[in-house]
Amino acid sequence: MKRAVVVFSGGQDSTTCLIQALKNYDDVHCVTFDYGQRHRAEIQVAQRLSKNLGASAHKTLDVTLLNELAISSLTRDNIPVPDFSESEKSAIPSTFVPGRNILFLTLAAIYAYQVQAEAVITGVCETDFSGYPDCRNDFVKALNTAVSAGLARDIRFETPLMWLDKAETWALADYYEHLETIRQDTLTCYNGIQGDGCGECAACHLRANGLERYQDNKSAIMQSMKQKVGLA
Ligand SMILES: [Zn+2]
Repeated sequence: MKRAVVVFSGGQDSTTCLIQALKNYDDVHCVTFDYGQRHRAEIQVAQRLSKNLGASAHKTLDVTLLNELAISSLTRDNIPVPDFSESEKSAIPSTFVPGRNILFLTLAAIYAYQVQAEAVITGVCETDFSGYPDCRNDFVKALNTAVSAGLARDIRFETPLMWLDKAETWALADYYEHLETIRQDTLTCYNGIQGDGCGECAACHLRANGLERYQDNKSAIMQSMKQKVGLA
């Protein structure tokens, strides 16, 4: 029995990871984190999606302490979410939640240990979100080494989207015939609006721009995606 744990927010990236995990593993568990995020609507979206797509378990963990410690426009109502052009100006945008992926991956690994899963899957991506240091490959590899040493068990951190751009992530969902699921049923928007979102924030901009690029050049992007993820 091959078992995996998906760090699952109900957004485009983690939903695409879940769809792929359900093809590659016999048993898939989702873990969602409640840290009082601005876009908390994603928690209900995540619960609905994991059930509809066929995950065998879904755990929502209360990590309110992250909200207390990490000051960000996603954890404080009085810090506005920057629009796309503003967030381009700063090296690390105000939507960065310090420690988020350190905590999420560590907690997901502890959960994986309990349920005897061999892998923790996360939708982090260096290509489009290099402004977030905890989305980079070097960070994930380093934490994987530390966590496996600390648990005395090899739990593999998988990052299937790490080298894909957003158009290729749309192609991956399309490959599994779930493009419309991603388009209509997921929530990526920092302002908590499902589907096409607010259209103003950086997350909406990336998502819409990626879809447009994919639709303009489907076969070439499908091909490059397949090569990158080993489906070719
Ligand atoms: Zn938005």
